[in-house]
Amino acid sequence: MTYVITAGCIDVMDRSCLEQCPVDCIKPGTRMLYIDPDVCIDCGACEPVCPQEAIAMDAMLPEELRGYADMNAAFFAAGAKADPPRGRRATAPRVSQRRPAPSAVSLRRLARVAAPLR
Ligand code: SF4
Ligand code: SF4
Repeated sequence: MTYVITAGCIDVMDRSCLEQCPVDCIKPGTRMLYIDPDVCIDCGACEPVCPQEAIAMDAMLPEELRGYADMNAAFFAAGAKADPPRGRRATAPRVSQRRPAPSAVSLRRLARVAAPLR
């Protein structure tokens, strides 16, 4: 497992998470930050400080945000250069492990506002 940064970070990038990571595996791209899944030790220190609730353990991601796990990994596989395509909506659902698993109703709401993964 690993932690993943998702759509809520896009065009926010306040970097609060960077200071929390003990293994320095969070890196900035052009429009969002990414977590290196091969280095993350799953400590969870980054998750509660994110003002966008954009960070979650991969296993906790709602379906609409699961593509961000691959996106985080792809960023590092590409030499920390790949970024979301321009024009991706910054409006994004939040994820939080402090909340219980989303209900079917909340997942439908997330689906309406989630940025399509292309
Ligand atoms: S704390 Fe959240 S919004 Fe800020 S840079 Fe990290 S993931 Fe992005
Ligand atoms: S879970 Fe821990 S190791 Fe992984 S990115 Fe967050 S702070 Fe870094």
